[in-house]
Amino acid sequence: MLMRRRISIILAAVCMAAFCSCSFGGTNEETAQKTEFFAMDTYMSVTAYGEGVQKALELAKDEVQRLDKMWSVTDENSEIYAVNGGGKAAVSGETAQLISFMLDMAKRTGGALEPTLYPVVKAWGFTGGENRVPSGDEIQQLLKNVGYEKVSLSGNTVTLPEGVMLDTGAVGKGYASDKAAQVLKENGVKSALIDLGGNIVLVGRKPDGEDWKIGVRDPDGDGVVGIISASNCAIVTSGAYERNFTAADGTVYGHIIDPKSGAPVDNDILSVTVIASEGRLCDALSTALFVMGKDGAAEHWRTHKDFEMIMLCKDGQAYVTEGIKDRFEADEEHSEMIINVIEG
Ligand code: AMP
Ligand code: MG
Repeated sequence: MLMRRRISIILAAVCMAAFCSCSFGGTNEETAQKTEFFAMDTYMSVTAYGEGVQKALELAKDEVQRLDKMWSVTDENSEIYAVNGGGKAAVSGETAQLISFMLDMAKRTGGALEPTLYPVVKAWGFTGGENRVPSGDEIQQLLKNVGYEKVSLSGNTVTLPEGVMLDTGAVGKGYASDKAAQVLKENGVKSALIDLGGNIVLVGRKPDGEDWKIGVRDPDGDGVVGIISASNCAIVTSGAYERNFTAADGTVYGHIIDPKSGAPVDNDILSVTVIASEGRLCDALSTALFVMGKDGAAEHWRTHKDFEMIMLCKDGQAYVTEGIKDRFEADEEHSEMIINVIEG
């Protein structure tokens, strides 16, 4: 079975959209600096503008790599790995904060974001290993150890029952993108584009003072369907197209799992892009809203209204919340696409 990793293509599309539309002034273009690296199982890049930003970029990269080491579910030296051994474990304040945030978001989304889903994700082969279709019995057995309410966090001490495992895969990149942005700002950067495997944070505005232009990837192709104009915010997309495999019978299984069934999500959504002030919120929500489906996601927005979203659905239409409708434009190739506005 073939695992299709298209993250690099997504990145290329996003960056192309981000940069093709920029019209830099001469000096700014000359002072653009970029660092690229691999962390959290994906390709990442940080681009900053201005004089002397190279040091800040290195520090931002170090920060992301440090968090990767702490939160990796597969690295035997990580704090999450230590916790997943079962029983009680003390973690750093940062890891406790991440776990606390994941538990809050699990609660908020009614368990659509499920930070203890790792054994099921692993059984489908989405974290290392070979992709395969587990039997119904196997999934039911594994689901017995799934449930965020089984996790106890008291101060910096985490207690997990035997067999229960935490996974930061759906939130860690978003969380790390906020930390990277913080490092850049602390080191004097006023204008930067952070892209941690499609988890985007826009620091300030483009060097020419305009909004950044970020492409929303076509879930059915390699291009983009439209462009978001934004600044000073985070933008994160979840979609099955990011990682999936095709089984022997031709069924395509994506990497986002419905915690109720233990099977890859197969609903009316192809991708959800979330726009909000923080990357961690965007990351947690994009995964959860994808699980909820179109109507559930719209309802979640109406209840909370602390984010905006763009859903691309299997009916070929886009569904966008009121707050982002004027900042999202279909590209020429998708000018016929119906864009529905979700109202409060
Ligand atoms: P994202 O790319 O942020 O949408 O996160 C997807 C990743 O989170 C997957 O590759 C899995 O490792 C993990 N995951 C899959 N389904 C869920 C879920 N329902 N809740 C939490 N994590 C999940
Ligand atoms: Mg996510």
